[in-house]
Amino acid sequence: MSSLEVHQFPCLSDNYGYLIHDAAAGVTATIDTPEVAPINAALAEKGWKLTHILNTHHHFDHAGGNLELKEQWNCRIIGSRSDARRIPGIDEEVGDGDSFRFGSFDVQVFDVSGHTIGHIAFYIPNAASLFCGDALFALGCGRLFEGTPAQMWTSLQKLSALPDDTRVYCAHEYTQSNAAFALSVEPQNADLKKRAEQITTLRAANKPTVPSTIGEEKATNPFLRPMSPELQANLNLQGADLVEVFAETRRRKDSF
Ligand code: ZN
Ligand code: FE
Repeated sequence: MSSLEVHQFPCLSDNYGYLIHDAAAGVTATIDTPEVAPINAALAEKGWKLTHILNTHHHFDHAGGNLELKEQWNCRIIGSRSDARRIPGIDEEVGDGDSFRFGSFDVQVFDVSGHTIGHIAFYIPNAASLFCGDALFALGCGRLFEGTPAQMWTSLQKLSALPDDTRVYCAHEYTQSNAAFALSVEPQNADLKKRAEQITTLRAANKPTVPSTIGEEKATNPFLRPMSPELQANLNLQGADLVEVFAETRRRKDSF
């Protein structure tokens, strides 16, 4: 079986761009289009031709380069069916539970609404890779601009059900500030303390903290841990409904 190459590079102030490439099939996709120049520079560096754009959601730092890249590369744009009117140049609409082929790889689509309505994530089982945009971050989750806490919690549960070794390619390097918040609500979590130290070391060396894995996120990300007794106690929500715990965690992060 051929392997999927993932090339990660910085865009804008704190976004990550991703190119995924199946050499045998000769296909290359960009996950979102945060910024045209670094995407084209990455393509040139790799010697790859852009054949697809996979959009997670409509925000400008995710779909802002769609039309310019489509004009230049005549590539096929795949995005959310329920958000199609906000995805510039969309050619193929996909939704929760759909899958499509990218070269020899099966790409599964999850609706992960909450940050926006119609936000989707792309999971590639044979590459153990998840591209989740602004739904799940390393030690965090997206702000609820359009959806409700219940919607976001439903979305995040789909992602935390993936295998522990799944690499989580999120769209922003927010991890260090997320770690500070996570420690404020779960200060006794030993895995979190260890991870926060690793993150400090990586960022001091200007290295990315992304990708992480689903296993790491389940152990340390407070937004996947509303069932944690320590988190519940620190929010004064012992035994509360998990949506309520999640909602309060998100509220506190908004003003942290
Ligand atoms: Zn966004
Ligand atoms: Fe974003």
